[in-house]
Amino acid sequence: MRWSFRIGSLFGIPIKVHFTFILLLIFIALSPRKDAGTLTGLIGVITVILIFACVLIHELVHSIIAKALKIDVKDIILLPIGGVSSIKDLSKDPNNEIWIAIGGPIISGVLSFIFYFMAKVITPHSSMDFAHGNLLVTLFWVNLILALFNIIPAFPMDGGRVLRGILARKMDHLRATRIAVSIGRYFAILLFFVGIFYNWWMALIAVFLYLGGESEARMEQMQLSLANVPVKKAMITNIMAFPSNLTIKNAVEQIYHTSQVDFPVVKRGVVEGIVSRDRLVSAVKEKKEGLYVKDIMEKDFIAFNENTPLSEVFKDMVENSISSAPIISGNRIIGMITLDQIAKYKMLKQVKNSLH
Ligand SMILES: [Zn+2]
Repeated sequence: MRWSFRIGSLFGIPIKVHFTFILLLIFIALSPRKDAGTLTGLIGVITVILIFACVLIHELVHSIIAKALKIDVKDIILLPIGGVSSIKDLSKDPNNEIWIAIGGPIISGVLSFIFYFMAKVITPHSSMDFAHGNLLVTLFWVNLILALFNIIPAFPMDGGRVLRGILARKMDHLRATRIAVSIGRYFAILLFFVGIFYNWWMALIAVFLYLGGESEARMEQMQLSLANVPVKKAMITNIMAFPSNLTIKNAVEQIYHTSQVDFPVVKRGVVEGIVSRDRLVSAVKEKKEGLYVKDIMEKDFIAFNENTPLSEVFKDMVENSISSAPIISGNRIIGMITLDQIAKYKMLKQVKNSLH
């Protein structure tokens, strides 16, 4: 996901924070608390760190269940609506999705119960009101809200995932996703209007919910329509590649004659790196025309085998934020794939289908 920063890893799972989550933390740290007096700032920061920990525990439980079911977890991203665990291949077994999704609200529910008792036992005279209570009361509410929001059957919340899992046992996965997403959409619209009148933060969460469900459904549809197509069917074969010992000066002269933006750097048919148009142009500005393309090429690049399904290629490219990649047969380059090209392929396929 764009705009997220890695802060570390737990149980081998990278933990990332989305910038909107940091905005939320700052908002909480700065909002005045009636009980704190001069300690406002400090209490705010401690509160923020503990809220952060509660959201993280919720997400970790999803990931740990996934790992126990032998499902890959790519990372955890913390967002204002809680968090997102990027868990791969949920479509294969709907039961897995149900187990993974249900763990989060359960742990948040248990935590809210624990904090409720701690507040009652340690600070029996404190108000249990969210706005007036102490730190334990705040944590009780935060976990309760996390648990309650996540059992709403609104995709992409956990409850929506459980719903999709249950539906997917009876019908194909894409249809189950569509139904879960449309139910989620009604909840999001409802939440938005309630939020406008009661709490603007709730309205913002509704927007996240609406968009999150949309993008998941679109992604899955894309995946399904491309699952049985090898990438070689959609690749560009008429490509410009540079020999590794070509000078930057000569390379720049050639790029005027093509709309291609990324160029494989090749030595005896084998790709050694990628050089982009921007990189070539900036090399000229840095007065490096005399160097070779191999001196400025990106050596760390992703290439795909010609038979890789287009759905996997698309997913990898989106996840790694790359717009083009070389296609390899044996170990020789035979073409390039770009996100534009995948979109074009999909569009042409749809047109073809509608003609039949
Ligand atoms: Zn969750």
